[in-house]
Amino acid sequence: MISMEFTIDYLKKLALKVYDTIYPLLGRKEASVKSERGAGGDMTMYIDQVAEEIIIQSLKKGKVNCLLISEEIGEKYIGDEHQVKKNQQVLIIDPLDGSNNAVRGVPYCSVSIAYAIGNKMNDILRAVVLNLNTKDIYWAEKGKGAYFNNAQIHVSDLDITQKCFFELNLPMKNLMINLQKLAPLIRRFYRIRILGSSALTLCQIASGRMEAFINLRETNRLVDVAAGFLILKEAGGKIFSLDGKEINKDLSIEIKFPFIACNVKLESFLKTELINKNSK
Ligand SMILES: [Mg+2]
Repeated sequence: MISMEFTIDYLKKLALKVYDTIYPLLGRKEASVKSERGAGGDMTMYIDQVAEEIIIQSLKKGKVNCLLISEEIGEKYIGDEHQVKKNQQVLIIDPLDGSNNAVRGVPYCSVSIAYAIGNKMNDILRAVVLNLNTKDIYWAEKGKGAYFNNAQIHVSDLDITQKCFFELNLPMKNLMINLQKLAPLIRRFYRIRILGSSALTLCQIASGRMEAFINLRETNRLVDVAAGFLILKEAGGKIFSLDGKEINKDLSIEIKFPFIACNVKLESFLKTELINKNSK
């Protein structure tokens, strides 16, 4: 049963409310005032809390029933818990992806909202990622394609011999060792960009502006990638685990995983280069 409550327009409006609240705070000192550690494990700042609070208040006002999985509060039933257990509606939200950029005023941060019926990533039906600096919206509905504002988007068709843009996100721990391991692969890249919002970078690949995202951080959270996951897939992109397998994790605040995302042309190249060498 598909509820009419969480239409794509509803999700876009929710994202725009975050934009209205957060945009005036970008790059401002008060944005970075620290509070306690969020459920996702990162330090919560004032701007993260404000972003999440506007979402919770909007959901409560809208009288919706869903399980909210969100970076700072973790998991919370909104509305009638019994109803939610029946209808299995889940919202997976990162109210502010790229918090460090946001407080410093580096223009690369986003709000990420995914809607699912069920308890697996493949149950995600609709997704919205809004660029909080430009107000542009990337969105997708399962089986209906991915869009940038009003235009349908697709991944690029560049292959490794062309000018591919990669994002490479590695843990700071053992950075040099990992870089050395990856050196043969890195040499094939045309350019590396490390931008700071995973949600937004998945959308860059979806819209053909970048080619691949290698995120080897074990601490990468579901809330960062849930919406980008659907948008990328609907744009024809690929996303897989470090052993080359399909990713279809549980929808839970506890879930963290590294991943590789790319256009179609780079899939077999990356699988061969990364997976074989990693397993040796
Ligand atoms: Mg966040």
